[in-house]
This record gives sequence, structure tokens and C-alpha cells, in this order.
Amino acid sequence: MAETLFSKIVRREIPAEIVYENDEVLAFRDLNPQAPVHVLFIPKKTLATLNDATPADADLLGKLLLAAADYARQQGFAEQGYRTVVNCNADGGQTVFHLHVHLLAGRRLHWPPG
Ligand code: 5GP
Repeated sequence: MAETLFSKIVRREIPAEIVYENDEVLAFRDLNPQAPVHVLFIPKKTLATLNDATPADADLLGKLLLAAADYARQQGFAEQGYRTVVNCNADGGQTVFHLHVHLLAGRRLHWPPG
């Protein structure tokens, strides 16, 4: 699987503010936050995009969302609310090709996004 910036974060080869970790998932603060809370949840295993996920990844995809919800509860903003987003490829605005779930919180988010 292709090397990505985020797999270097998994291996602690480049710094990141890691806020959550379990066996299969790592989460760290986005370098360019779009909300007071902006955390990226990534699989430790490299998957480039959502298009590359197969039925064998169903459990892992669920674990990414469960980790985001768990973090929101831990941090005390689950009831207030938050948004999870997965960008895919060019039109989706994906810039890092290691699948990730954005977790945004701490302000009222507009819908639809721009
Ligand atoms: P995408 O546009 O692919 O959905 O999101 C990639 C996200 O990764 C962007 O929000 C961007 O700010 C963030 N990002 C890019 N490079 C780094 C980095 O080196 N460290 C961290 N923590 N975030 C990064």
C-alpha cells in the first residue's frame, strides 16, 4: 500500500497532536482547523480513499465512526453536536490519500457545506 503522510504520523515519524488511539484507529488534530475542534480519525492500515474500501473493511469503517463518537462523549460535546465528514477524491475535496474521518465541533456548522 502506498506510503502516506498520515502513515508517517501513525509511525510517529512526523509530529502530530494525537488525541485518541486504539488498536486500529489513530486520531490527531488537523493542522488547519476549520472549527474549534477539528480532529482526523484514520485507520492505522492505509486505505487511499473510501472507493478502496471492500466488505472486508466494514468493521474498520464502523470503528472509525465509533471512535469519533467515543471521543465526542469523552470531550463532553456529544450532546451539543458535531459533524463527521469523509471527503473522496477531487470533487469531494480530498487532499491526503489516506482515508480519514473529519470530526468538527465547537461551533454551529452550516448545511449544506460550501
Ligand atoms: P482532506 O482534504 O484530504 O479531506 O483532509 C486532509 C486534512 O489533513 C486537511 O484538513 C489538512 O488540513 C490536514 N493535514 C494535511 N497535512 C497535515 C499534517 O501534516 N498534519 C495534520 N495534523 N494535518 C494535516
